[in-house]
Amino acid sequence: MNAQKYVIGNWKLNPATLSQACQLASSLVQMDKSVQVGCVPSFVHLSAVGELLAESSILLGAQDVCAKTATTGAFTGDVSAGQLADIGVKFVIIGHSERRAYYGEDNALFEAKIQQAVDAGLTVVFCVGETKSQYQAQQTLVVLDEQLSVLKSVPADKLIVAYEPVWAIGTGLTPSIDEVIGVHRHIKQVLARYAMPTVSVLYGGSVNEKNAAEFATAFGVDGALVGGASLKIEAFSQIVAAF
Ligand code: PEP
Repeated sequence: MNAQKYVIGNWKLNPATLSQACQLASSLVQMDKSVQVGCVPSFVHLSAVGELLAESSILLGAQDVCAKTATTGAFTGDVSAGQLADIGVKFVIIGHSERRAYYGEDNALFEAKIQQAVDAGLTVVFCVGETKSQYQAQQTLVVLDEQLSVLKSVPADKLIVAYEPVWAIGTGLTPSIDEVIGVHRHIKQVLARYAMPTVSVLYGGSVNEKNAAEFATAFGVDGALVGGASLKIEAFSQIVAAF
């Protein structure tokens, strides 16, 4: 069985206003979609965007989830997986390099977040990737093995993995296609060892309308996680069309 293809737009802390988020979401609904598309607005825009996407095939995602509970409780500032599921969120991004770098998130926290997400029935989009110095030291696969180790007991039908070299995120730099193919092959071997051979493995890091076709045809690349280019509907629709 082939892995399902996804193109997911991670809006990060964008756009500035609710009305801009709604405009972007409305354009997504109009767009031609050849693959499963996902859209990940910031928390304050989730409900309104979710309502706009409700009749469409686009999956709504969240950028983070509470590690402490899947339901309710005294956790100021947090949003639980149950609350997300209740408003129609289908998946949550966990392990993004910006969470690792700016908030010191680590494997123990990821495991806790994954558990809460799965308990509430959400799919986890788990991000892995090496830094520039790890890449230069040829440590990529060792780093990925350690990051992937938190996935051992996640139900395969609730998991998507995104390979995102940290040095490629928002920089305009990308690994060569051969490097991407090699890393994806390795990730799939690890996932096969965890009895998850059909989990989708997306590529992320400076995917744009110009390079999308190359990634789309690369063996083992089951889609893309897109940051900057997902905020421009023209660029994003071309990326979706490429897959
Ligand atoms: C990301 O942060 O997940 C990402 C892939 O960003 P960009 O596409 O902007 O490199």
